Parts: sequence; structure tokens; C-alpha cells
Amino acid sequence: MNIHEYQAKELFAEYGVPVSKGVAVQSEDAFNEALNQFPEGGTIVVKSQIHAGGRGKGTFVDGFQGGVKLASTKDEARDFASKMLNNTLVTHQTGPAGRKVQTIYFTEAESIDHEYYLAILMDRETSQPVIIASTEGGVDIEEVAANTPEKITKVYVDSALGLQPYQLRAIGFGLRLSRSTFKEMTQALQGLYNLFWEKDASMVEVNPLIVTEDGKVIALDAKVGFDDNALFRHSDIVELRDLNEEDEKEIEASKFSLNYIALDGNIACLVNGAGLAMSTMDIIKHFGGEPANFLDVGGGANADQVTAAFKIILSDSNVQGILVNIFGGIMKCDIIAEGIIEAAKNVKITVPLVIRLEGTNVEIGKKLLDESGLDLVSADSLADAAEKIVNLVKEKQA
Ligand code: GDP
Ligand code: MG
Repeated sequence: MNIHEYQAKELFAEYGVPVSKGVAVQSEDAFNEALNQFPEGGTIVVKSQIHAGGRGKGTFVDGFQGGVKLASTKDEARDFASKMLNNTLVTHQTGPAGRKVQTIYFTEAESIDHEYYLAILMDRETSQPVIIASTEGGVDIEEVAANTPEKITKVYVDSALGLQPYQLRAIGFGLRLSRSTFKEMTQALQGLYNLFWEKDASMVEVNPLIVTEDGKVIALDAKVGFDDNALFRHSDIVELRDLNEEDEKEIEASKFSLNYIALDGNIACLVNGAGLAMSTMDIIKHFGGEPANFLDVGGGANADQVTAAFKIILSDSNVQGILVNIFGGIMKCDIIAEGIIEAAKNVKITVPLVIRLEGTNVEIGKKLLDESGLDLVSADSLADAAEKIVNLVKEKQA
């Protein structure tokens, strides 16, 4: 789960990480009251809040440039904000469709002396948190990693020991910090690590983390993501969830405990088991098709869940065919067959449907489907199923 910059900065403040003063607003009516809280004559930063980075260099669909703007007067700030609010911002992280801006964050502008990059992630190879720091903030870290990797310092934290003072110093030296900012910077780092660890974050990224002209350390940007599997123990974080930022189909799927991720293709898949779902997607691609989604109904899905799964799949207007691939183990094939028949009564399946069943009670399952009168094609193997659905969709398009 991701949160907005303004929410992440509230968490930063709780953990002793300095941030600029800011006010978030959701409607134009609230602009004046928000701007009244800023001193006269100071520069104000107007920031579009979406769950994607690269906002500063982004472009709105109506041509307005920049999802982050510096305004030298309150009038200008109001003008920028009204151009951004409810407009759709496209950045290199949003994809071409962009994201609708539904919150504006006003912050007091800081004068930047130097921009640093800082991130804390879970390193999958070592199963440890890794801190990535660089003297090159404000730019794409991927570019720095490719062209000047020596400018990046990485520190792996032993999760049993926690972040050690010598590691903080190693980062401080890596960033070539001056004596005057060393302590403030390492305190901020410690705060960010504590937040990462205590809140079960999967990522904390600050780009840029700055030193101001008068020597203060400030997190100017804030991106935080959380491990969904640990959200059950962080009700305060769950409250920060912004459903506007999530795919409607994914929200619906989560209500039925379905593991669903929307993709750009036209062949929907309904599979039990995450590994099988991934290989199903691979094999669809192998035969020249494009999967419309990842969908794992889990090991013990019931008819309600299968019905919900079909509804979600069919609510995607890109879907031109469905491949059901079930390997009956804990889940019995006849239960899935009943679920499909039940679902077909509730939702009209208007696209080709290929079903491959294998495993426990496969014969009963196939018989149920045969006798149901449903318009479907059955397949004997995963390859057979994928080939059939890809061809059916192609035929329909031709
Ligand atoms: P991003 O483009 O989504 O990464 O959004 P950021 O929050 O990083 O803002 C984009 C850029 O705007 C930053 O990299 C800074 O260069 C600039 N910026 C943001 N806030 C301030 C500020 O308070 N003062 C100054 N001078 N520049 C800022
Ligand atoms: Mg940034």
C-alpha cells in the first residue's frame, strides 16, 4: 500500500525527520484558508498529490507543465493549485493515462544548498533492509547507478541488530557531509530507519533530502510504501489508504480476498495459486496473447468468490476472452465447476471461455460443465488451453 507525500511527511515528523511546513487541501474552497497559514512574501511550493514520482517534470493532459511549482505570491499559488486540482498529471511513473490530482499540498519553500538521495528498501537477495544514499539527489537514481555508481553508498542492516552508529557514520562519510550537518543528517536517517522498521514499510524514499542554505537538513519529498501483509498490525496506516489511487477492480477483488492485478492485455485468466497464475500468463504470452490480469482465487475459493472473480474480469472492457486454469488439490475441480456455473447464472459471459481442469475430482467437474449447457471450450493441458483461447480471441477480432 502506498500513501501520499503529505501523509508520509506527517509520519516523518512523528519520527523526528524534519519536513517543511505544509497544508493539504482537497477542494478549491479550501485554498484561501490554507494559504492564510503561510507568511506573506514567502515562496510557496504547490505540489500535486498522486501515488507516483516524477511530478515536477510531469505534464497535465491539458498541456499545463509541472505537477510541482514554486509560486512567489499567494495569488500565483492559488492559480497553480486551481490548474492542478482535478486535472490529470502524466509522469514517467504514471503511464500514458496519468493520474487525477485530487489533493494539493502547499509547502513553505526551502532554499536548497545541496540535494541528496536517500532510500530504504528490503533487499530481496540478502533479506535485509538496505539503505541507499547518494550525493546526487533530485535526479533519477537509476541514471546515477548506471553512470556514476561510485556516487552511491549502500549499507545493509542486520535486522536483529538494527541500524548501528558506525553504519550511520559510513553513510555520512559516503555523502561527504560537513561537520556541521553530520549530526542532523544522521539523526534524520535514524528516524527514517525507525519508521521503515516499526511501520513495516517496504520502501521509504526521500528524493531530495536537502541541506538548506542555512545548514538545516529537510526531507523535501517523501515516498513511502508498506508491506500489505503486515497492514493488519498497523490500523493507523490503513486509515491513510486513498482508494482514489487504486484500481476499482483491485479494490473489489480485495473485498473477496482475491489476489487480482489488472494488466493491459485482453485475455483474462482465473487461476488457483499464484505460481500457476504466473505460468498461465507466461504461456498466454508464449502463444502470442496478452494477459488482461493476474488473478489467483486461492486454494479454497468458494462459489461466491468465483462469481466475484468473473464479475471483476468482465467489468474490464479490454477483456475479449477468458482462460480458467484450475489444478485441483485442496480445491476440488467440481467445486470450481459449480462456481463457474453459478457465476454464469449471475453474470452474462459474452466472450469466449476456455476451461482447463486437472486434479482432484476432475471427472465430476468436467461432467458438471458438460451438462450445464454453458458455451465453453474445454482443454486438456495448459498449453492446449492457452493456444485455444489465443486463437478464439484472434478469430473474433478477424
Ligand atoms: P517529484 O518530482 O515527484 O520527485 O517531486 P519533488 O517533491 O521531488 O519536487 C520536485 C522538485 O521540485 C524537487 O526535486 C526540487 O528541485 C523542487 N522543489 C520542491 N520543493 C522545493 C522547495 O521547497 N524549494 C526549492 N527551491 N525547490 C523545491
Ligand atoms: Mg522527488
